[in-house]
Amino acid sequence: MAAWYTKKTRKSDIKRAKVLLRSYNINFRFLKTRTDGYTSFSKNRVAIGTKVSIQYFWSLVFHELAHILNRRNRKYARYHRDYAAKDVIKKIGLRSERYTDKVAAQEMQKQKLGLRYLPGYSHPWQIKWYRQYCEDYL
Ligand SMILES: [Zn+2]
Repeated sequence: MAAWYTKKTRKSDIKRAKVLLRSYNINFRFLKTRTDGYTSFSKNRVAIGTKVSIQYFWSLVFHELAHILNRRNRKYARYHRDYAAKDVIKKIGLRSERYTDKVAAQEMQKQKLGLRYLPGYSHPWQIKWYRQYCEDYL
């Protein structure tokens, strides 16, 4: 039997995530064919890919949710806007993402899902990937 970290996201997870995001007054969209997430600050909306494991799904939900909370709390304000300036992304992007991971892990803990948050920017290979991404696209 597949473990929860390999099991695919179920309808019940999506339902629960909808209720959660509503409780934070965040608009949302679930994307069946995607494996990532992103945030639109102007629309106060997160988009979450559901073609992932349950653990990864919830990590995406809390990561994008944390970006919205950070904007509300004016944390890394120059980064938490749509179309942040390239030099801002280069300078504080990684720090902002790591801070977002921290907030996301705390929020996820509060919900007592029994799942561990998977950080997106903590392993050396993730940091290397991010630096390469900046190099290639900024
Ligand atoms: Zn992020």
